Amino acid sequence: MSELAEIIDDVREQVTYLRELGVETLEAQLPGLETIDVETKSTSNAAPALSPLKAAIAAIAPEKIPSAPRVSLLSSLPSLSDRPVQVSRPQPVVNTAMPTAKAVKSASQTGETIEQIRAEIGPDCTRCRLGELGRTQVVQSTGNFNAALMFVGEAPGADEDIQGKPFVGRAGQLLTKIIESIGLKREDVFIGNINRCRPPKNRAPEPDECAICKPFLLREIAVVRPKAIVVLGATAAHNLLETKEPIGKMRGKFHDYQGTKVMPTFHPAYLLRDPNKKREVWDDMKLVRDYISS
Ligand code: URA
Repeated sequence: MSELAEIIDDVREQVTYLRELGVETLEAQLPGLETIDVETKSTSNAAPALSPLKAAIAAIAPEKIPSAPRVSLLSSLPSLSDRPVQVSRPQPVVNTAMPTAKAVKSASQTGETIEQIRAEIGPDCTRCRLGELGRTQVVQSTGNFNAALMFVGEAPGADEDIQGKPFVGRAGQLLTKIIESIGLKREDVFIGNINRCRPPKNRAPEPDECAICKPFLLREIAVVRPKAIVVLGATAAHNLLETKEPIGKMRGKFHDYQGTKVMPTFHPAYLLRDPNKKREVWDDMKLVRDYISS
């Protein structure tokens, strides 16, 4: 496949994600677009030809090509998996020239690690009744232990209970698209739930079950120290932010959890039932994208 064909495929895939999220028009902030412009200008004095990526976009949405080179918000997103690792896993350090404030202060203040928290929870946890109500296994949080962005859901469903990982079912696949829609990969972020065991018949976890399990998540937040947290759905929002405000009223603006910005938004499972709400989630995610890249 030619380079241009690959680029067209990439752009088409990204546009498809955005469409699935309810985005109807393309804005100028496409990843890498302006970066390519800048590189083109710096290496050539000739009249600027249409860059391959612009040509690709022109093939899909000709009316949406921005004229002036600007620094893309998406391309300026911190390379999450590349930031210096302070906690547990060795990871490549690519950009050490401009450490973010977060990177400078990101040594774990709690002195514990995600592995220690997981070990303390143990594989057979029965601290709350969910441990004895038919769950297959404890579903631990996963992802980048040094992530700038964290997602918190409610509790595992059937697929998560079988596979032992959060957000791997249909709602999880939509969450992956939501993450990718802001230029990140699933491996860049940290994903957890208020409760780590599947409630029977997919009911919401009870307040006492949440109260028992939530402290482990709070400890993980203290280890990861993300720049922002997205809470997915009412259960996650109410438990992390200790409020009962309806999720529809909470979303669209940042809240505070101990100095960390928290964006409540609709749960992807809800989006599967009501795809019209994807537009609001996209709006929320743009705020998150802009904040973590600032
Ligand atoms: N819904 C959640 O809230 N969490 C999961 O892990 C899966 C579905």
